Amino acid sequence: MSTHDRPVMPGYMSRRTILRGAAFAAGGVLLGSAIEVGGAQTALASSEPQVYARAYWGARSPRRSAQVLGSGPSYIVVHHTFTANTNDHSVNHATALSRAIQRYHMDVNGWDDIGQQLTISRGGHILEGRNTSLASIRNGQHAVGAHTANHNGHTVGIENEGTYTWASPPQSLMDALVSTCVWLCSAYDLDPGAAIVGHRDFNPTNCPGDQLYSMLPQLRRDVSARLRSSQAAEPKKEAPEERPTYPDLPERERETEHYHGPAA
Ligand SMILES: [Zn+2]
Repeated sequence: MSTHDRPVMPGYMSRRTILRGAAFAAGGVLLGSAIEVGGAQTALASSEPQVYARAYWGARSPRRSAQVLGSGPSYIVVHHTFTANTNDHSVNHATALSRAIQRYHMDVNGWDDIGQQLTISRGGHILEGRNTSLASIRNGQHAVGAHTANHNGHTVGIENEGTYTWASPPQSLMDALVSTCVWLCSAYDLDPGAAIVGHRDFNPTNCPGDQLYSMLPQLRRDVSARLRSSQAAEPKKEAPEERPTYPDLPERERETEHYHGPAA
């Protein structure tokens, strides 16, 4: 991807971070002295993937600004969007998806804004969700969303486009999900082995689908490996305060597009 394709992303464009990005793209093989990491801030900035901000996808203004907590979340919750498994991997499709989800969350659910902090399309495009999410992540803070009932104060939610009850996500989506989790674990000092969970771990729902859920152990390993190969791997936050509850899966869950279990 040429740098001209990137949306505005402060802190991303230094030669150092571009080189570092290249190293990640090459499977985490470090390029010797080409990579110098000056400190935690640099490591964090360099782990930030390309994220399309709300202005890029044409987000509506929220009814109210998100509540921002001074400390970061303890968990990264993986969801599926319960929408079609499209083959349209374009950015235009990804921005339309975000607008559709926001419309559903605001106009059907009656929420203040789109619920999740981040959305990943099947093409692997990563988009900001709830207002102030990007700035909050960069500051180590938490913009409270609506995606995992009773746990929104300490969880950051990623909506992955598609329905993964029977089908598996495309590689493009999984690659972006790994990058996103590396970034979030760096930003919030989280141990991927403990922090990455599925929606069903907290609420009675099939989300994120049996197939994607079964890929979470590999996701945790991939994220751990990437963190180890970077110098972003700092001491990790210990044992989160509220552990997943692992409720029973519902036998017959409501089947409505966009609906994936208790969220707010
Ligand atoms: Zn969910």
